[in-house]
Amino acid sequence: MKSRVEELQNISGQEFDLCVIGGGATGSACALDAQLRGIRTVLLEAGDFAGATSSAATKIIHGGVRYLEEAIKDVDPKEYHVVVRALHERVRMLDNAPHLTRKLEFLVPSFHWLDVAYLDIGLKIYDWLAGSARISPSKFVSREETLRRMPQLNRDGLLGSVEYADGQFDDARYNLALVHTFEHQGGQALNHCRVTEFQRDSAGRLSGVVAVDQIGGATLNLSARAIVNATGPVSDLIRQMATPSVSKRMRLSKGSHILFPLDLFPTDDAMLIPKTEAGSVLFAVPWGGRLLVGTTEREVEPGDDLYVTEEEITYLLRQLNKYLAKPLQPSDVVAGFAGARPLASAGEGFRKLWEFRSANLRQERTFFMAEKDSRATSGRS
Ligand SMILES: Cc1cc2nc3c(=O)[nH]c(=O)nc-3n(C[C@H](O)[C@H](O)[C@H](O)COP(=O)(O)OP(=O)(O)OC[C@H]3O[C@@H](n4cnc5c(N)ncnc54)[C@H](O)[C@@H]3O)c2cc1C
Repeated sequence: MKSRVEELQNISGQEFDLCVIGGGATGSACALDAQLRGIRTVLLEAGDFAGATSSAATKIIHGGVRYLEEAIKDVDPKEYHVVVRALHERVRMLDNAPHLTRKLEFLVPSFHWLDVAYLDIGLKIYDWLAGSARISPSKFVSREETLRRMPQLNRDGLLGSVEYADGQFDDARYNLALVHTFEHQGGQALNHCRVTEFQRDSAGRLSGVVAVDQIGGATLNLSARAIVNATGPVSDLIRQMATPSVSKRMRLSKGSHILFPLDLFPTDDAMLIPKTEAGSVLFAVPWGGRLLVGTTEREVEPGDDLYVTEEEITYLLRQLNKYLAKPLQPSDVVAGFAGARPLASAGEGFRKLWEFRSANLRQERTFFMAEKDSRATSGRS
């Protein structure tokens, strides 16, 4: 492990093929990928690695049951391909980091046979799309078995549940593992180092960055042949730093989670509530001896405070308590956290709120590259 002084020396004044700005999941994975391809890469993070959105997730490795529903309803082949790809990536994550991931069974409690049929068909398609990457087949679970696995569920009218499998991961540690692997492969990574300016060559093209060490206060200059903007929620600020005239293309959707002691809802499985008042899904997931419940969706601006509000706690409890035999109270909440989904708006104009989630899945594979000719371009995959 290199010391901070060594890291600073290895970076300052050096020439790199690639500079990645932002040490969240996107930037760290991007830096590792580049380094593995023999591209000499430096990764700069303003705060701590995984300190922003990448430690505020629901921690589910999913293909996206909800996105599949949207793909089918919208007859959207692009959306469909995103789900198929994510289903395959899911298994890679489970295989690559068994110490930071696990298979997780989800139960969707059902109170109407029509719901059972709808879910059963949808999840069979999910299984089918996963093909060889299927974790385990979805199935109907009887009322008795459902209550054995989730004894605190509301029994009134409960028919049983539909079960499917996805994964769970430790988002922050997974991100750190990417950074460690990147360094192990010879990459240079520095946290608490904020990029504040771009350097330009005589033709005005981006040729490097100026960054400020947030601990010692030193200013670093480094050259880079290409620069990746992986700053998530603040991507527009970096894009505009490269090209002031570009219009914004990020929308931020705040998502809040709350946590309860797991003995208030003892379970090894996760629960999916398929439709909340807001029309989205809600998860209740066992996580580190707690029950993690989330999430909300509310549009915010870069720089807005990301803390869990009382209103959000009330909303989450109202959705959850419909499914519980004994309602949980605000006083049962032991912790909470919120993050901003950095969503890239697609094309002209902004898409409606219900489209945020599908855009979210896309943005996880999207980064903005500030090209050498300083025309910031965007890409999605
Ligand atoms: C509520 C919620 C629930 C989610 N649930 C899931 C889930 O269950 N499963 C899943 O797979 N995904 C989930 N996601 C999505 C996932 O968390 C994000 O896709 C991912 O974390 C985005 O990572 P990122 O690297 O793009 O952004 P970030 O993690 O925000 O990283 C950007 C980094 O850039 C840095 N930065 C900014 N400006 C500068 C600068 N000038 N110089 C240097 N560094 C800078 C920031 O400090 C930050 O660390 C969820 C997201 C939210 C908000």
